[in-house]
Amino acid sequence: MSTVIYPSPIFGPIHSRRLGVSLGINLMPADGKICTFDCIYCECGLNAQRRPALPRPTREEVAGALEAKLKQMAAEGLLPDVLTFAGNGEPTLHPDFAAIVGDTICLRDRYAPKARISVLSNSTAAHRPDVRNALMRVDNNILKLDTVDPGYINLVNRPACRFNVDDVVSTLKSYEGHLIIQTMFMKGSTGGVSVDNTGEEYVGPWLDKVVEIAPREVMIYTIDRETPDHGLKKATRDELDAIRDRVIAAGIPCTASY
Ligand code: SF4
Repeated sequence: MSTVIYPSPIFGPIHSRRLGVSLGINLMPADGKICTFDCIYCECGLNAQRRPALPRPTREEVAGALEAKLKQMAAEGLLPDVLTFAGNGEPTLHPDFAAIVGDTICLRDRYAPKARISVLSNSTAAHRPDVRNALMRVDNNILKLDTVDPGYINLVNRPACRFNVDDVVSTLKSYEGHLIIQTMFMKGSTGGVSVDNTGEEYVGPWLDKVVEIAPREVMIYTIDRETPDHGLKKATRDELDAIRDRVIAAGIPCTASY
């Protein structure tokens, strides 16, 4: 298995470990990746290896392709559980992200009213008013917080934008519970440096901030596909279960995907 670039603007449906039957909405180009992070575990590959030549799909192209796919799925009697903004990078970077979310809500209501709308985001644009307004309208606003350790963020998430973890925590708090935090736990090393964030020195401070943010839910997971950095390893089931149980004990619903 190798890293993957998704079709655009619609892909799937796929069965998601966390979300069920998911129809993907990819607002990035079909031939590469655009992201404000450059995570060493990214299933799409590293930014430098995946520079796109094509443009992002337009708002009209996204709406047209989504409507056609939902009509087809309705005719086949197999509607998705969830419409998921994900794919080749960070969906909130699309200049028409807010309008596309509005279009998607209308199409969902018309063709698949039981489907939930999810956005998987790395949180780097979550402070922008237009992005915040859009994320407040979706059912599952899933925002990444892998750690609160700045050194670990620079080692693993590798922001390509200005990134201050205290500012991000403040932003996530401003969602007043209308968010799900997603966190990757893993082991192994990169360039000879450990990336194991399953120990107390990472989990304890992370959990303190999660409690402060007070999300509706937390989703923890580990590596599932091949990663561009081959030194990374999965966290074990027992490690994930132990972290999950601590989150639940703190009063926040939490799921673990292995
Ligand atoms: S935030 Fe997501 S899309 Fe961006 S580099 Fe990290 S894993 Fe890949």
